[in-house]
Amino acid sequence: QLSVILMLILGACTPNSGEQNVKQDQEIETLLSKMTIQEKAGQLNLISIRNEPNEKQLQMIREGKVGSIIKANGASHTLKIQKVAVEESNLGIPILFQEDVIHGYKTIAPVPLAEAASWDLEAIQQSAAVAAREAAASGIHLTYAPMVDVCRDPRWGRIIEAAGEDAYLGSLVAAARVKGFQETNQNPYQNILACVKHFAGYGASLAGRDYNIQDFSERELREIHLPPFQAAIDAGVASLMCAYTAYDGVPLTANRFLLHDVLRQEMGFKGLIMTDWGTIKNLVKIGVAENDTVATQMAMNTGVDMDMESRYYVDIIPSLVADGLISEEQVDDAVRQVLKLKQKLGLLDNPYLYNNVEREKKEILSAENLKVTKDIAMKSMVLLKNDNNLLPLKSNGKRIAVIGPFAKADKDMMGWWSGKGEAKDVTTIYEGIANKMNKSHNLKYAKGCDIDSFRVAGVEKISEAVRVAKASDVVVIVLGEEYWMSGEGGGTASLRLPGAQQQLLDAVAKTGKPIVTLMATGRPYVLTDVAKKSDAVLQTWMPGTTAGDAVADVLFGEFNPCGKLPVTFPVHEGQVPIFYNYRKTSHSFNRVNSKYARYTTTHLDTGHDPLYPFGYGLSYTSYDYSDIQLSSDVFGKDGNIKVSIKVTNTGEVKGKEIVQLYIRDEVCSVTRPVKELKDFAILDLEAGESKEAVFTITEDKLKFIDAELNTAIEKGEFTLFVGPNSSDCKSTTFFYR
Ligand code: BGC
Repeated sequence: QLSVILMLILGACTPNSGEQNVKQDQEIETLLSKMTIQEKAGQLNLISIRNEPNEKQLQMIREGKVGSIIKANGASHTLKIQKVAVEESNLGIPILFQEDVIHGYKTIAPVPLAEAASWDLEAIQQSAAVAAREAAASGIHLTYAPMVDVCRDPRWGRIIEAAGEDAYLGSLVAAARVKGFQETNQNPYQNILACVKHFAGYGASLAGRDYNIQDFSERELREIHLPPFQAAIDAGVASLMCAYTAYDGVPLTANRFLLHDVLRQEMGFKGLIMTDWGTIKNLVKIGVAENDTVATQMAMNTGVDMDMESRYYVDIIPSLVADGLISEEQVDDAVRQVLKLKQKLGLLDNPYLYNNVEREKKEILSAENLKVTKDIAMKSMVLLKNDNNLLPLKSNGKRIAVIGPFAKADKDMMGWWSGKGEAKDVTTIYEGIANKMNKSHNLKYAKGCDIDSFRVAGVEKISEAVRVAKASDVVVIVLGEEYWMSGEGGGTASLRLPGAQQQLLDAVAKTGKPIVTLMATGRPYVLTDVAKKSDAVLQTWMPGTTAGDAVADVLFGEFNPCGKLPVTFPVHEGQVPIFYNYRKTSHSFNRVNSKYARYTTTHLDTGHDPLYPFGYGLSYTSYDYSDIQLSSDVFGKDGNIKVSIKVTNTGEVKGKEIVQLYIRDEVCSVTRPVKELKDFAILDLEAGESKEAVFTITEDKLKFIDAELNTAIEKGEFTLFVGPNSSDCKSTTFFYR
């Protein structure tokens, strides 16, 4: 009864959402009606201001020619600029501050690909929420994240920025990140808007060269590249950025089919569409548009709302309208998108809601934020090899040599797009280990070699490392890449360790000491020779601000590693693109060593198998999978079946196991993948404990895209695979009738 009364009272006090929407729309229409065409064009203009704004920039703001700013520098900086917009421009419309807050603002979380290795959607969401509350307090309103480009070619440096090679996992991670940025923090002013990017297919840049052409079928577009965008849209993402690249020859900024027919009409995206950096200008550069006027007209007609740094919209839109080449209604539609975001953020009521020096101090690098990011850093690490249970290390009495060019690295631990993260705040891996060993003299260090770009350099330091290794009981060698080597513009032909790191490892291995190799990279490297020379290999990725503490907890067994690879690790670069869900082909993958029996689809020299498959990762304990059971082997009329499997922790320590479910469609009118990830469950298991993982197979999980590119489902046999990774599963079959 009380709740009924409460509802009545609340109902009487707050306008219902319908009324509220009308009021909000009115506010925007009123504002719009007061704007000149130049002011409208200004709202669509996004410019960068890195340091103190100069007089020219301030003047543009006063004239209403700037709607958004990227690269602002903290609460007092954004506040100062905001004041000019609000107090000195004609209509006082606040600026929308935007930034690349990709995996942290000041407290840096592991790089996004690493986070995906946790498969822990709650942890991923919390990590994005940390980034949001730090950025929000500094006056940032919108982040250019999540990046959701599915990538199956680790030569592409930007593979570091998303969630790996799988569209299903990528979709779940995309949604978790959108929620983390936009709605997870308690107070609205602690959340920021997300911008999903780069629409669409950028992850397929040929040969892994950034900004290169992409060329794939509409089937691949729909099966692989669009699902994470759809997931972000369904999670309510506020904005979207289109890619630098072209789809089917038409640059995204001018691609009406993708932006209008597919994105707006089919996928139902209602938010703001922005360009990537200067992509309207690029239309002229690549010869798709004759000049800036044509380029601007093209982008407007495609439905692009906001111009990042081409500065064409602000300069050219007024004359296009005057000349009747575009309509003022088109401009109004785009401006509504911008104003709606400002309204949604509460800026139209309180322009200074976000820039808050006090809150900034409190939020940034808070104990809570460090805790959340350390938690996901540990969950992200993937144990690739652990012969003779070398790990976890025992700190008692053993002499440990910490070797390698990344043992004392700080900035490199944060990786690409590290926001405003500072090297001085990072705990290095060496420090983390030293703290655990109470600064004991049993710990020795040698750098081993330098990293000088990709060249082999600093080899003379190797002999010192060998000396240090000889005087130890166990070697921890920290190898990897510098922060800039993966990321935007970071395409590489080789996936071998940069510099003299392999020589270093080879030389240290000759000492015969047990070796733990830590791989601090932002993408898969070819670890074939690394694994050969190491007893244990831990893929730590670039773990962020708490790198050293997180790594040390894992090394000494306070945290049992549980991450699983979100991307395939090849044996050799020549296998790339290599991914687990390849389509069935007519010829087998059997490796042959004979010139006669050569009718196979494998590489003769390397074979087909990767070094570590998608979904792979070890633990300090072991798990046994048994009793795979189906509720029925025929898909029931009630529309689903259940599959269960018993997982037992057969080792001596507790652990977390990520149980994966894959499905193969045995007979289908189009070629289908050999298996596809369809679900997973994370089980916490005490030593000796058994639990059941139970999955529900719904019709949705059996659907595919048919020859006419429609979503369909066909009758017939399906195989189910459940296991610890994509290539080691128990299987059973069922029928869909
Ligand atoms: C990148 C985007 C990024 C933008 C702004 C571009 O070069 O492709 O991912 O958000 O710059 O920094």
